[in-house]
Amino acid sequence: MRILPHDQTVLDAIAGREAEIVDRAIGWCAINSGSRNLDGLSHQHDVLQGVLAALPGEVESLPLEPSERVTDAGDIRQDEFGAALRVTVRPDAPVQVVLTGHYDTVYPATSPFTTVTPREDGALNGPGIADMKGGISVMLAALEAFEAHPDRDRVGYRLLLSPDEEIGSLGSAPLLAELGRIGHVGLTFEPAMADGALASSRKGSGNFHILVKGQAAHAGRDFASGRNAVAGAAQIAAALHALNGERDSVTVNVAQISGGSPLNVVPDTAVVRFNVRVPDQASAEWVRNEIERIVIAEPLTGQHGLKVSLHGGFTRPAKPLDASQQALLEAVRAAGALLGQEIAWKPSGGVCEGNNLHAAGLPNVDTLGVRGGDIHSENEYAWPQSFVERAQLSAMLLMKLASGEIDAPGLKRLRTGA
Ligand SMILES: [Zn+2]
Repeated sequence: MRILPHDQTVLDAIAGREAEIVDRAIGWCAINSGSRNLDGLSHQHDVLQGVLAALPGEVESLPLEPSERVTDAGDIRQDEFGAALRVTVRPDAPVQVVLTGHYDTVYPATSPFTTVTPREDGALNGPGIADMKGGISVMLAALEAFEAHPDRDRVGYRLLLSPDEEIGSLGSAPLLAELGRIGHVGLTFEPAMADGALASSRKGSGNFHILVKGQAAHAGRDFASGRNAVAGAAQIAAALHALNGERDSVTVNVAQISGGSPLNVVPDTAVVRFNVRVPDQASAEWVRNEIERIVIAEPLTGQHGLKVSLHGGFTRPAKPLDASQQALLEAVRAAGALLGQEIAWKPSGGVCEGNNLHAAGLPNVDTLGVRGGDIHSENEYAWPQSFVERAQLSAMLLMKLASGEIDAPGLKRLRTGA
């Protein structure tokens, strides 16, 4: 592969827009779009919808199905999500690329972390600047520039911006699965590591909630007729924790037990919440069976009659480094080398939309966003020089997918075997 004159024009166009590419992300960070802040999400959605209009395709706003949640009081509620944005460009082109990102952040509406501030070393510190409003700006910059390339008609794409990635993509999951089936190659714009390294394999992740219902009773006058939900929850939590170490690379993190009552009342409700990480599908099935065994078993409280129900499930399948992923990462490394960028990769403990896309049959590289770090904290930062750098990398991928030097249908065949 080499950089052709038309390619260079696209790269130069990106470099010429550096201030705009960085500044628009800084502007978006000033809009709080915590995953549960529906007003803020709606504001961010409308701003992005306006920007997406610069692309040649149809822009759709897609409402998402609410998801079920168990409250601390033991009630089942429906959680509403913001709307996703989808753009479809040249759906009949021979190469189909899927680009995804999320416009929600982990910072709630009440967070005092509201603006971007430059650090003394030049890094930008702000809510979502790396994860991933910076990434959205990078994605759009690459596409906007690619639209001026003479080979653009060979590449069609579907772009999805979701409002619920930081809470597991339960609402967007059907949209991600559909795009995963349709596309040849996926590009997702989660932040790269500070040195530019990409994530290779990712574990799968599930969030589970066990609701324990007992019987309230006066602790003094009528203790024997009570059924203690907190004691049952504690035993369930201990049994879940004991799964750690039972199978390679499977972890169970009992994160929360809620419930209880005044000291003179036998408590009738408790909820155990936990996260599970697995290296592959077989481990996911193993741990799921173990969890069900624990739920079905009568908790050894010495009191029968507790009602135990399991809620939640796996939100992200594991994303192993298979042959399609290996080949795609090699292609990204080659594209980076043309730009003088050294691209490495390593496994990540985190999960993202790339897990969903891969499970649906799409080879994808999911850390094409800006270089940064300390995400999900008030120290979150991104390097401003990485915006142009990463937009050029993605534009280079699009140009080489268009030329066929990166074989998109071949990568898809490696993934699906078809
Ligand atoms: Zn993210």
